Amino acid sequence: MATSAVCSTTVLAQGVPVDTTSTTVPVDTTGTTTTTTTTVPQVSTTVVKPKPKVLKGKDVKVVYKVKTTDPVVFITIDDGSTVTPSLAKYLDRNKIPVTTFAVSVMLWKHREWFRDRKYMTFENHTWNHAHMTLVSAAQRKHEVCGASQVARNVAKESPMYFRPPGGSFNSKVINTVAKCGMKYLVMWNVEADGGVVRMAGRGKLGPGDIILMHYLPSLERSLVHLMEQIKRNGLKPALLRDYLT
Ligand SMILES: [Zn+2]
Repeated sequence: MATSAVCSTTVLAQGVPVDTTSTTVPVDTTGTTTTTTTTVPQVSTTVVKPKPKVLKGKDVKVVYKVKTTDPVVFITIDDGSTVTPSLAKYLDRNKIPVTTFAVSVMLWKHREWFRDRKYMTFENHTWNHAHMTLVSAAQRKHEVCGASQVARNVAKESPMYFRPPGGSFNSKVINTVAKCGMKYLVMWNVEADGGVVRMAGRGKLGPGDIILMHYLPSLERSLVHLMEQIKRNGLKPALLRDYLT
């Protein structure tokens, strides 16, 4: 005599099959058949989302120049507080990709201007330009995590990069950058304010250069000059987010 037990399975999000039905097990003891029933509780099939990875200081990469052979350079513009309709027109007309590291106070004050820029991303340069190696742990966290929150409010997405004011950082700053969810601390290897391109002893720009500028009244003039040099060197500007992911 054979009694077959019917077994159905449900596959969980993790791919582990689990028996969810009653299983009837025949037990022949006295010539008659008795049955016992074991009930396995139903298992929820709700998809379990993996926990987001918590970054540690060791996950943060410090970058002065992007490793690439593509003929691209990266224009990054930090604090300063001057944005104008003329600058907007110049950036938009020439579709210049810009990685902006504005401090929160400026980003929020000019949020309408910044939100209108199509070829720009918004990264983290602290809340109020504090000297990051001299502040308390609490202020350090506020300067970094607080600035990311402001950028999210303005641009609806989180910054991916942190740039320390004055380029000043240590391991505590790096740990805070990780805690606030960013895995790159982005420095620079070229400066281009005031219509002068400074390349630390080199004669021309090269692939992967990260160029530092500021939102100064002279920015548009500096950009015109820089763009001429970028073209002359056979390069074009690109967004960091297309290279550092
Ligand atoms: Zn700065």
